[in-house]
Amino acid sequence: MANTERLKQRLKEDRIPEAVWPDEWGEKKKRPREIAFMDVNLCFPCGKCPEFCPVGCIEPLAPGTLPGRGDNQPVQVRYQECIGCYICVEVCALLTDYDAVRMYDTDLVEEVVGEKIGDSPGPYKPPEPFEEYFSEDGAHRHVGKGSRALEKMNREQLEQMRPKA
Ligand code: SF4
Ligand code: SF4
Repeated sequence: MANTERLKQRLKEDRIPEAVWPDEWGEKKKRPREIAFMDVNLCFPCGKCPEFCPVGCIEPLAPGTLPGRGDNQPVQVRYQECIGCYICVEVCALLTDYDAVRMYDTDLVEEVVGEKIGDSPGPYKPPEPFEEYFSEDGAHRHVGKGSRALEKMNREQLEQMRPKA
């Protein structure tokens, strides 16, 4: 079975056509247009999105990174490795109540992290919280893009509720 089908089955959601759904992608091969970041304050962490990320670039922050979270730290993306597929956004929005993930324009991310995002993942770099930029009280969460599948479902529901002319 193709990876696409397997992922869709596990998501129990057949309507995510906008996601990249890479079949063979093991690591980043080109600069993505958008990159995912978690709101670390909203991430429980349930541990679901790291399981689905096709390039395996989501991991918990190091123990003690966020005060008060001890060894149960939220997850964050290693941004240089992200391929911008939206899968973690959909997983968090559709399989959990946390809706912690948003996608950000790569130009903006370069500005925030102060480095170029290249065509390849580069050397391993542990994730950082970036709470001041990508959490609800942060500078950029309001421009982040959320779940497309959820938006579509809501749109369809509204359409159905609209009185017929
Ligand atoms: S799916 Fe959401 S709540 Fe669960 S680990 Fe990922 S970001 Fe955190
Ligand atoms: S968008 Fe999310 S699931 Fe896709 S590569 Fe980036 S971190 Fe992984």
